[in-house]
Amino acid sequence: MYDIAIIGAGTAGGSAAIFAAKSGKKTIVIDADKSMTKRAWIRNHYGIEDITGPELIETGKTQAKNFGAEIVQDTVVNVTKTDEGFKVEGESGTYEAKHVILATGALAALAEKIGVNTKPGTEPRIKTIVDAGVNGKTNIDGIWAAGTVAGVSVHTIITAGDGAKVAINVISELNGERYVDHDVLKS
Ligand SMILES: Cc1cc2nc3c(=O)[nH]c(=O)nc-3n(C[C@H](O)[C@H](O)[C@H](O)COP(=O)(O)OP(=O)(O)OC[C@H]3O[C@@H](n4cnc5c(N)ncnc54)[C@H](O)[C@@H]3O)c2cc1C
Repeated sequence: MYDIAIIGAGTAGGSAAIFAAKSGKKTIVIDADKSMTKRAWIRNHYGIEDITGPELIETGKTQAKNFGAEIVQDTVVNVTKTDEGFKVEGESGTYEAKHVILATGALAALAEKIGVNTKPGTEPRIKTIVDAGVNGKTNIDGIWAAGTVAGVSVHTIITAGDGAKVAINVISELNGERYVDHDVLKS
């Protein structure tokens, strides 16, 4: 049983995975390898002068793995409620988790299929998004949404930040108190 299953390893899902795994939560990321960011050349991400989308994604995945996240390539086809959380069904495997974060980018079909409320998107070319609260919660308790699929501005700095925000909210809910992740320079 994972604490957190993240569907999607783009900037939102990858960033959520870094925070989730670094906090000590047992974390799995399931990704179909269809990130829109693989086509991007990024020169507007704070703190990074110039990076290709694929490099940004791969570095993020490496960070998440280094903190203990498991990352598998699979396409999730269903998510159903169980007594302890959720069963996440992929084409190649099944994963059990207490919480699920949808970070599926421009693809809202899975959310629609599993009964998560959606609404029309407001960003260019994003037709449908999850109807998520500002904290990332959906209408199904324990299923959250982050990044493009949650309707935030389609830029890597914002989707990555949104993934981090939602992960912090999930971690805080699991811990029963607000969570902060600060490392301090040694003097
Ligand atoms: C051509 C192009 C150029 C861009 N240039 C810039 C730029 O210069 N600067 C900038 O800030 N932003 C740019 N962007 C936007 C940037 O890529 C996005 O804002 C952001 O990275 C989206 O992050 P995300 O994690 O929400 O979605 P994505 O990166 O698309 O990740 C979503 C992930 O979810 C996975 N997924 C979806 N459904 C499933 C499923 N059922 N099962 C498993 N996995 C699933 C996909 O495989 C994918 O990996 C550009 C985008 C494009 C297309």
